[in-house]
Amino acid sequence: MVIGIDYDDTWTKDPKFWRAFCHSVLNHTKHQIVMVTQRCECWPEQVKQVHEDVGENFIPIVFAGDPVLPQSKIEAARHAGWMVDVWIDDNPISVTTQMYRIRERGYDVGEEF
Ligand SMILES: [Mg+2]
Repeated sequence: MVIGIDYDDTWTKDPKFWRAFCHSVLNHTKHQIVMVTQRCECWPEQVKQVHEDVGENFIPIVFAGDPVLPQSKIEAARHAGWMVDVWIDDNPISVTTQMYRIRERGYDVGEEF
């Protein structure tokens, strides 16, 4: 099983908990974990913050929030080679819907998107 975990308002709500969760999964099961965030690789400071917080090589990280090529998290994960089975996300609509479309529908997605 591949588990996809969000960063903003998921991992950041309790990094210590999620780190322990990931350690347990990775050390005691054959399951895999990939982080999929709507942050963009084009924002170096935000990328740096994620890497510093999560750990450079702790789990793979997919940055889905490309403003030039808008894509949902599931699309970005697939393009990166990850077929996620289970998602952990505070904003589940972002898994299947491109962020600008979520904003169009009136959902509050924060200032950064
Ligand atoms: Mg989130």
